[in-house]
Parts: sequence; C-alpha cells; structure tokens
Amino acid sequence: MLSDYLDGALPVRDCRELERHLEGCRPCIAFLESLKITVEACRRYDQNKKLSLPPPLPPEMRARLVASLRPEPIRAKAPARGESGQGLQRSKP
Ligand SMILES: [Zn+2]
Repeated sequence: MLSDYLDGALPVRDCRELERHLEGCRPCIAFLESLKITVEACRRYDQNKKLSLPPPLPPEMRARLVASLRPEPIRAKAPARGESGQGLQRSKP
C-alpha cells in the first residue's frame, strides 16, 4: 500500500487520508522519510540488478506502518478529564 502511495498510484482519497494523518504524526513522518529512502535504494538496486529483485517493502516495516496508521484502542487508562482525545478529535468532518 505504501509503495503505491509513494508511486502516486494510490487513490486520491486514501492519499489524502494518509497525508492528513502524517500532518499530526511525527513518528509516521520520520518513518515515511526513511521508507522513501529505502524505496529509492530498492529501485536503484533493481535497476542495477534485475535478476535479483529486492522486496519492495519488508513485511515488518509494512506491518509497523499499518499498525501506526490505525487508531489506538482506547482503554480505560486515563480518567475522563477531557485532557486526552480533545486534540485528536477536535476536527469535525
Ligand atoms: Zn502515525
């Protein structure tokens, strides 16, 4: 999915959702940056050696990103003071 995003082949809607998330998630931004570098490296490597194809994206990294993109399950960890969650759910559709 992310490789598609990097290729610009992802539907605009999904692309926007992802970018919207990236605006407020620094870990994902840093991750995506490193991922871009990885993809670029893979492409160059692929151009040099077409016989051995490197994996477009390590499953571990992919799973990591997918997990980070999903909202964390809200457990009754923080008391209902309205302190947590306001920042995330402030925007209306
Ligand atoms: Zn994120």
